[in-house]
Amino acid sequence: MGIIVQKFGGTSVADFERIRNVAKRIAKIFDQGNDVVVVLSAMAGVTDSLIDMANQVTLSPDKRELDVLLATGEQTTAALLAMTLQSMGYPAKSILGYQAEIITNRNYGGARIIEIGAGRIKEFIEKRNIVVMAGFQGCDPEGNITTLGRGGSDTSAVAITAALNADKCEIFTDVDGIYTADPNICKKARKLSAISYDEMLEISGLGAKVLQIRSVEFAKKYNVPVHVRSSFSEEEGTMVVKEDSDMERLVVSGITLNKDAARITLKKVSDQPGVAAKIFLPIADAKILVDMIIQNTRAQGLTDLTFTVSKKDFRTALEIEKQVAEKIGAEKVFGDENIAKVSITGVGMRSHSGVASKMFAALSGENINILMISTSEIRISCIIEEKYAELAVRTLHNAFGLDKDEN
Ligand code: ADP
Ligand code: ASP
Ligand code: MG
Repeated sequence: MGIIVQKFGGTSVADFERIRNVAKRIAKIFDQGNDVVVVLSAMAGVTDSLIDMANQVTLSPDKRELDVLLATGEQTTAALLAMTLQSMGYPAKSILGYQAEIITNRNYGGARIIEIGAGRIKEFIEKRNIVVMAGFQGCDPEGNITTLGRGGSDTSAVAITAALNADKCEIFTDVDGIYTADPNICKKARKLSAISYDEMLEISGLGAKVLQIRSVEFAKKYNVPVHVRSSFSEEEGTMVVKEDSDMERLVVSGITLNKDAARITLKKVSDQPGVAAKIFLPIADAKILVDMIIQNTRAQGLTDLTFTVSKKDFRTALEIEKQVAEKIGAEKVFGDENIAKVSITGVGMRSHSGVASKMFAALSGENINILMISTSEIRISCIIEEKYAELAVRTLHNAFGLDKDEN
C-alpha cells in the first residue's frame, strides 16, 4: 500500500466506455487501500482538433491563448473521470495544473516544469480522495496557463510521482510495453521486460512517442521507476529503470523510426571560418531545432552543407536559407521533405565493433540508399528516403536478430 500514480493516454480515455473502464481499474487499486493520483490526457484526437480550431480563427494564434485552449482537452477528461468515479460511489476530486501548483517557465507550447507544490493534492489524499489531475498543463509563476509539449502528460505523471515521493508510476497506453520496435510497424517486435533510462532517452529522443523525452529525463533525475503497460489488459508491461548488471545486454536493443524530418542543402558554400555560424544563427533565432548536420568538402575551398529539421519547420528554414545563400554567395539551396530517420540503439554498442557496418550492409541489401549518418555512444541513425521507412525498420530488426521467432 502507498501512493500510486497512474497516467492514462488519449486512446485509453477516448470515449465514455473507456473512461468507465479506467474508473473501474482505479477503483480496484483504491479498494486495496492504496492512495491513487490519476493523470489524464485529452481524449484521442482532441488536442489535434483544438489546434485546428485555433488555426481556423487565425493563421498565427497567440501562444498564450493557444495554451489556454489546449489545456481544455485535459480539463474535460479530468472532470469526466472524476464524475464517473463519483457515480460509482468513490470520492474523487479533479485538479488542474495550476491548482496542483505545477509551476513552469513561460515557454508556451513546450514549457518546462520548474517546481511542484502539490499541496492541494496532498490534502485531497489525506482525506482519502482519488485525485484526478489534468496532465500536460501547468502555469508560470504569474499564473499564465502553459502546456508541456505534445505527449506532455507523461511528464506530468513522472513529475508528480517525484514530487509526492509516490511508490509507483504507471503509464497506461495502447501498447502493452516498450518493444524492440514500434509494434504497429514491426509485427515481429519483442516486448522488453526492462529498459534503462539511457536507452529510453535515446528512443524517445528519436521520435518513439510511447514516452515523452522529458518524462524520461525526470525519471532518470529523480530515479523514478516507470512501468509502461496496457490500459486494455492486466499484463505486466516494461519497467524503465536505472541500468543494472542483470539487464539483458543486447548490442542492439531497439529500432526507431522518425518520419518527422526534412533536409536542406546549401551547395558550394565557401569553406571559411564563420560561414557555418551565418547559416545557423538565423535558424536559431527562428527557434528552429536542427537535428543532423553534414558537410562535404569539395575542391577549391568550397563545401556543401546539409542539415535536417522537423517537417513543420521546413518551409520557414528553406526561406531563411535562401536569403542566407544570397548573402554568403552559396550557389544553390534545395530541400527535400520526403525523408525519414531510422536508428538503432543499444547500450551494448559501447563495447562492440562492426555494428555500423552491419547496419549499412542490411540497408544496402534492400537497395536502400543512406543519405546522412549520425552516431552517439549508444545509437546510429541514418536518413533515408521516406518511402523505405517501414521496410528499413523491419530489415534492421531482422538483421540484428531481434525478430520474435528467432528468440
Ligand atoms: P498515449 O496516447 O497513451 O500517450 P502514444 O500514442 O503517445 O500513447 O504512445 C503509444 C504509441 O507509441 C504506440 O501506439 C506505438 O505506436 C508507439 N511506439 C513507438 N515506438 C514504440 C516502441 N518501441 N514500443 C512501444 N510503442 C512504441
Ligand atoms: N493531449 C496532449 C497531446 O495530445 C498531451 C498528451 O496526450 O500527453 O499531445
Ligand atoms: Mg503519449
